[in-house]
Amino acid sequence: MNETRPPERSSSLDWIAGELQEWRRLERLRQLRIRESPHVGGLIQWEGRAYLDFGSNDYLGIAADGKLVDAVRRAAGEHGWGSGASPLVSGYGVLHRRLEEELAALEGVQAVALFPTGFAANLAAVGCLVGTGDVVYSDQLNHASIVDGCRLSRAEVRIFRHLDLQQLEGMMADRSQFRRALVVTDSLFSMDGDFAPLPELGALARKHDCMLMVDEAHATGVWGEQGRGVTEWQAAEAVVDVRVGTLSKAVGSIGGFVAGSQDLIDWIRNRGRSYMFSTALPEAAAAASLAAIRIIRDEPQRRQQLQQVIHWFAEGVRENAASGLCRRLAPGLEASGTAALSQIIPVVVGDERQALTAARLLREQGLFVPAIRPPAVPAGQCRLRISLSSSHTRPQIDRLVEALAGLDCSEET
Ligand SMILES: *Cc1c(COP(=O)(O)O)cnc(C)c1O
Repeated sequence: MNETRPPERSSSLDWIAGELQEWRRLERLRQLRIRESPHVGGLIQWEGRAYLDFGSNDYLGIAADGKLVDAVRRAAGEHGWGSGASPLVSGYGVLHRRLEEELAALEGVQAVALFPTGFAANLAAVGCLVGTGDVVYSDQLNHASIVDGCRLSRAEVRIFRHLDLQQLEGMMADRSQFRRALVVTDSLFSMDGDFAPLPELGALARKHDCMLMVDEAHATGVWGEQGRGVTEWQAAEAVVDVRVGTLSKAVGSIGGFVAGSQDLIDWIRNRGRSYMFSTALPEAAAAASLAAIRIIRDEPQRRQQLQQVIHWFAEGVRENAASGLCRRLAPGLEASGTAALSQIIPVVVGDERQALTAARLLREQGLFVPAIRPPAVPAGQCRLRISLSSSHTRPQIDRLVEALAGLDCSEET
């Protein structure tokens, strides 16, 4: 592509070309596409064309809000950009402290530790809770950052089938062989859009002397009356010991956090390797998150509007239950009955090619819905992943439902 690119002389890396070829053959090789617009008004622009955007985690339409942009300008003017060091050395500034305090107030906990990403927060949280001689019980569909946190912790890892509490309790039979034990789960699963039953998990954890850690990445700001997440929504605050959240999804900014007791946070600041050995976020990024969590606190109507959007979508799918891809969604909607549907809606279509074709056909109609493939989901369970946002309008949702109803993967491939 680029004439001036230096020649590669190393042949010890030749194996990579073979691997890439194999991934290409499996249609698994991903290409970056350059987004040409901010996330605004439920739209996204690629290659000069605007699409309805059902592929961002900006669930409350906050990422491009002018309040965040103004906060960043002001903070950068006052504090500069880079923070220069890890929080423990000299990177920790006034705005980091203020953000931690406001997050702790939002979450209703004693203390919060701020991280550069949610991924880093999970690595530190798991690693600070368990180690050699301990055990972690982890849901099969937990996020990659929890999986990696478990692996790095050196604790024994027991993986239970997705949401299978019966299997989990069976596994806990040998709990007494271990020093400490941790149950860890996503609260709202990122590729399946379903919820962990936190009160039940909490009861099991208590009964078998385990800690309970919950990753609220897709729920912070969205679920619960005050936006604390599924923990609040399911009234499980008394049984969840450790909450992890991200500032990069509904909060519309960047960063991650662990929320809990003061002791937990002191321990994490002293023992969390991804906390200690990584540079603090720019203070201006903390300023954006501060502006965002004030929106989350002061504008509960955004959460209510997202519920309205989810309702429009469910209604549309029910009305088209016999058509195209709506056929695949309708049984799930019936099964969940009055139980809440989340803002993440998977449409499982089959193999890579089917998912890619479905995504392409939607794109041709002006809708961006990402195809999700291995390793994000198991082979054969490739899917479209629809993300709804409070900024979607009724006509936009109608167009989505109409497009899904008109699409039948089995015929198109
Ligand atoms: C996105 C995500 C993370 C990581 O958060 P980042 O801030 O993007 O690093 C962690 N857990 C879950 C469940 C996620 O979906």
